[in-house]
Amino acid sequence: MRAEGERRMAKTATDEATEEAAPRVPGRFRGRAPDRDFDPAAVREALLPLLRAIEAVPDDVNEPLETETMEPLLRRHPRPGGGFFSRSQLIAGFRAFAEDAGFRFDEARFRRRVQRRPVRTRSGVTPLTVLTKPFPCPGKCIFCPNDVRMPKSYLSDEPGAQRAANNRFDPYLQTWNRLAAFDATGHPVDKVELIVLGGTWSFYPEAYQVWFVKRCLEAMTDFGVGHDERDAFDPGTPDFEEIDADVRGDRFGRNPYNARVTAFLKERQEGELLLGHEAADWAALDVAQRANETAGARCVGLVLETRPDHVDEEEVVRLRRLGATKVQLGVQSLDEAVLAANRRGHGLEETRRAFDRLRRAGFKLHVHWMANLLGATPESDRADFPKLFEDPAYRPDELKLYPCSLIETAELMGPWKRGEWRPYEDEELLEVVADAMPRVPRYCRVTRVIRDISSDDIVVGNKRTNFRQIAEDEIARRGQHLVEIRAREIRGAAFENASLEAKDTGYETATGREVFLEFVTPEDRIVGFLRLSLPKEASFVEELGQNALVRELHVYGGSVRLGHAPDGAAQHRGLGARLLDRAADLARDAGYEALSVISAIGTRDYYRKQGFADGALYQHRPLRD
Ligand code: SF4
Repeated sequence: MRAEGERRMAKTATDEATEEAAPRVPGRFRGRAPDRDFDPAAVREALLPLLRAIEAVPDDVNEPLETETMEPLLRRHPRPGGGFFSRSQLIAGFRAFAEDAGFRFDEARFRRRVQRRPVRTRSGVTPLTVLTKPFPCPGKCIFCPNDVRMPKSYLSDEPGAQRAANNRFDPYLQTWNRLAAFDATGHPVDKVELIVLGGTWSFYPEAYQVWFVKRCLEAMTDFGVGHDERDAFDPGTPDFEEIDADVRGDRFGRNPYNARVTAFLKERQEGELLLGHEAADWAALDVAQRANETAGARCVGLVLETRPDHVDEEEVVRLRRLGATKVQLGVQSLDEAVLAANRRGHGLEETRRAFDRLRRAGFKLHVHWMANLLGATPESDRADFPKLFEDPAYRPDELKLYPCSLIETAELMGPWKRGEWRPYEDEELLEVVADAMPRVPRYCRVTRVIRDISSDDIVVGNKRTNFRQIAEDEIARRGQHLVEIRAREIRGAAFENASLEAKDTGYETATGREVFLEFVTPEDRIVGFLRLSLPKEASFVEELGQNALVRELHVYGGSVRLGHAPDGAAQHRGLGARLLDRAADLARDAGYEALSVISAIGTRDYYRKQGFADGALYQHRPLRD
């Protein structure tokens, strides 16, 4: 927990932070101007229609608008000169125009409507996304954008990508500035899930990986005590805004990304792909990890993303040494022909092996599956999706369900122009998604249904950002309901501790038996859960032997700062300890000698207090005297 004095120091350092905290990249300030300089009258033509659109959203409840509703409106009415209006600018505009605009709402109601919802931190953990720098990717996937200003597969006008570019992909600046923005908008930052995105992580040199994670951790630790090293940023870091970004998928035919990015990096970095300081060794990372264990802003989860064919045993151990707890894996399809048509460069055997290795090492598996790829049809997609859960080789813990959209820089432009690929009609896509979602079992969380990209980037394909809601409405209309985790999360709702019910769901995988332990309310809202692996053979990670393994422990809470639990919040009520005890009992009864946990850097201390002893990469609790 960050001491109050420390919090005050951090606050002082971020007093000037706006919603998009100003990065300190020399010569490239693109953060928002302070609101006191904002003149609504100067942008009335753009702003007034947005205010009216916000007011016109039908909603009987006096609640803040959902992000899924608010963001498309902001995008449709951008700020002249670039970017989007901030919440405080909307309120300033409402106040300035109230006299003559004839609004139905008074200011208090309008304020409530545009207030930022605490969705990001509803699970009690603040997700913080950072991007690695543009770098060659071994993939040649034809649906993947070739925006050479970004790490492969990302688009420069995605909000998170813009933030990363503003910070020239520097991990320290990205992390520190994002924490400052969260802190300034009232989000707790003491427990952070660090999500590293960009291309294929496993293809970046090891020294860069170590350095990148180390700098993120150092930024968190520094932020927690109000220490600020942002001025140490190397001004020689290339600015990818200066790269020749004119890439069109249909003109180039084949992926031009790697050649263009490699040439730019070498030209700006004396023939090297990495700058001299973009490297660190394991000993330095170890120091940064230990410092972050009990820091004011601590890393309670580290997510890295990679391709199935890069997950060998050595890579799995490396991911763990970095402190990763979850891996995002691009599965995309379970149909060999579709994988080949889209030039994924790997088949199902690699996908199965990746699941196998990652699960045996205790990682949470967050997979991406795509509908509407080249060679797929609505019928084949409806047949493909169920395999994710029917086949014991897969059965992921989390899922992103992305329909393919055509981006101008993707090679898929060629097949589209030749009439070999077309986007599904709205109804076809709805059929696929509404058919898929009710099949997701209660142990899996559907984190996203649509990739959040600007409609300006989509040549053809779904542009409805509220597609998840549309699909959920259709599912309800069919009389079905969802049991996947996100649909059942307790979020901010109150509950009676005494009414909670323990529920265990067992299922087989290729590596053994999994048990998903939950605490649920009488209405089946999920308050906490634990993923327990009972492996059928010893892991290739020597330290684990054949121990039972806690792959995830999650207890929900509202926007709660450590040590400040309001009534009704699920955290800090000992639910985590009760779940661990249940897991230990189950494992002991099944004949296991010890229970291991894939702890994050910032949860090591918690597990020590729960009777776990530190190992090299995991923590362990004996199950017998
Ligand atoms: S591996 Fe991922 S990032 Fe690389 S080309 Fe394929 S989809 Fe894009």
